[in-house]
Amino acid sequence: MATILIIEDEPELVKVLRSYLEAAGYQVHAAFQGDTGLVTWENTRPDLVILDLNLPGMDGLDVARAIRRKADTPIIMLTARVEETDRLIGLELGADDYVTKPFSPREVVARVRAVLRRAGGTQPTLEILRIADLEIEPDAHRVTRAGQDVELTPTEFDLLVTLARAPGRVFERAQLLEATQGVAYEGYERTIDAHIKNLRAKLEPDPKQPRYIETVFGVGYRFAKD
Ligand code: CA
Repeated sequence: MATILIIEDEPELVKVLRSYLEAAGYQVHAAFQGDTGLVTWENTRPDLVILDLNLPGMDGLDVARAIRRKADTPIIMLTARVEETDRLIGLELGADDYVTKPFSPREVVARVRAVLRRAGGTQPTLEILRIADLEIEPDAHRVTRAGQDVELTPTEFDLLVTLARAPGRVFERAQLLEATQGVAYEGYERTIDAHIKNLRAKLEPDPKQPRYIETVFGVGYRFAKD
């Protein structure tokens, strides 16, 4: 989910924008002054900033400059001034788009979508888990060992991801069952052993001496730390 920071001193505008953006699936932070907005930007590092030009505390253009010195976060400027000079100054600062007040919140949401798409910012960084020569891409449902694809069943894959996301942590069988099936049926815990056995056969160079998935006797399993 992309996060948007609104820096705007008119509470009603913030309220309307927030509700439209949240309805569109964005997470929204807001600040009502330029200087506090910059602090919020530092703290939240949003995917996009909606920045009012005329702000108390610190002018919108200065906020844009300060952000630009540190990152290329896309910026959409809100401006009540229609003078061309403001637009040009904004362009120099690298603002990605403008909306002139009064505007329709729908239009702002459309601009946000377009700018994020252009910036490639709608796609969150894909998670990749790496341990030794094993590479796991949870979102792509893909596992490779030494660059070779490893075919896993969905349950095996879920098990592997659960373990690999917390290397060194010991999982009880019931926890693994819950993680893979959403619920732990009593008496079914041994099925985890069967899945682990299959996983090892597919992943481990030597399944009898597991390199990745370790057995913790009397407790459960854990993923090797390195
Ligand atoms: Ca203002």
